[in-house]
Amino acid sequence: MSKTISIFGASGSVGQNTIKAIQAQSQKYDVKVLTAYSNAALLAEQAVAVDADYAVIGRSDKYQELKQYLEGTKTRVMAGEDALIEAAQIQADWTMAAIVGMAGLPPLMKTIEQGGAVAIANKEPLVAAGALVMAAAKRTGATLLPVDSEHNAVFQVFENSNKDAIEKIILTASGGPFCEMPYEQMKGVTPAQALKHPNWEMGAKISIDSATMMNKALEVIEAKVLFDVTPQQIEVLVHPQSIIHSMVEYCDGSVLAQMGAADMCTPITNALGWPERLQTPGDRLDVMKLRNLEFMPVDLTRFPSVSLAYTALEKGAYACVAMNAANEIAVKAFLDHKIAFLDIYELVSGMVHKCEPVDLKTLEDIISYDNSVRRQTESAMMSDNFQQTGT
Ligand code: NAD
Ligand code: MG
Repeated sequence: MSKTISIFGASGSVGQNTIKAIQAQSQKYDVKVLTAYSNAALLAEQAVAVDADYAVIGRSDKYQELKQYLEGTKTRVMAGEDALIEAAQIQADWTMAAIVGMAGLPPLMKTIEQGGAVAIANKEPLVAAGALVMAAAKRTGATLLPVDSEHNAVFQVFENSNKDAIEKIILTASGGPFCEMPYEQMKGVTPAQALKHPNWEMGAKISIDSATMMNKALEVIEAKVLFDVTPQQIEVLVHPQSIIHSMVEYCDGSVLAQMGAADMCTPITNALGWPERLQTPGDRLDVMKLRNLEFMPVDLTRFPSVSLAYTALEKGAYACVAMNAANEIAVKAFLDHKIAFLDIYELVSGMVHKCEPVDLKTLEDIISYDNSVRRQTESAMMSDNFQQTGT
């Protein structure tokens, strides 16, 4: 029997690489569900290419378009937010969670309920609902496989049987497109400049997060959730070459690192094959070509976002929800040319510092608090005393 697979967020950057990874294998996979939010043409093309049972489009108004594209094929079409939840209940041995943002949380929770293997690229639900996600996986026996390149690296060198011997996790950061840029100059950067990442090709939201280094803040929380270490055990270093994707330091002085090309096909293929190893369709690292690997501390005056992760973790889970929600709103506003680049940090930091303890037990509690922070961020953005740092 072939392995059954579903991909949530198939049309995105990680989703497309996941399809590339499954097509590169000699073994056949039985693709159950592919989802996208609005690109019906691409979703239909992907569904035909992998002979998917279901193609699910997030936007209900795209139903007819998708249906037309898939006329005469075996793929069944569904649309709307509820359809994503329904699709997450279709049993699959392995699911890729590659939706961007908190929109991925409800289908992720349903997927975990099925108890299979869940490859998680979608970091925002881990940041905002880490305890809930981990508890659900524990309850149902679902195996969570980290796909974010740093967390996949840590996963590969993290000896669970020697957990007590682990002193720290060192997450590496490329530093993004503005790694060397003076602070004054950052005031005027445009979305187009911020979207150009030096080492990685990614979706718009994570590209902006990399430029502000909020991505690393999200990843510190993601690491805390996935590996159950203390915030003090998580260190961030800038490593502009993006060759070492992260490291784990043990008490005997050993530092285990995972290296590879800056190509998401490696962590995706690693998660696809786990616990075995498969061929990557992506770039390979030629170690003979490596001349220098640099590591330096994060310049927190230019990239204060990284510190916000520690502030949020110290405050509590509600502050992690607030950080993520405010960031999603701020990134969208920046991409829509409504705020300046440095305003992203101002808005997120404002929300993290002002948020007050809220008891968040259920998925509904988290979603409702997330929505309230989104509204507060939007009003903060509209308020008269919100100074655009870039203007
Ligand atoms: P992307 O923007 O390229 O793709 C996002 C996917 O989510 C698309 O399929 C889109 O249709 C879908 N989507 C968007 N909004 C949706 C909604 N409201 N409801 C349902 N579906 C929706 O993003 P990406 O770069 O592939 O990133 C996906 C996730 O993986 C993010 O959480 C990101 O942080 C994480 N990640 C990405 C990379 C990378 O290299 N791209 C690396 C590490 C982690
Ligand atoms: Mg990453």
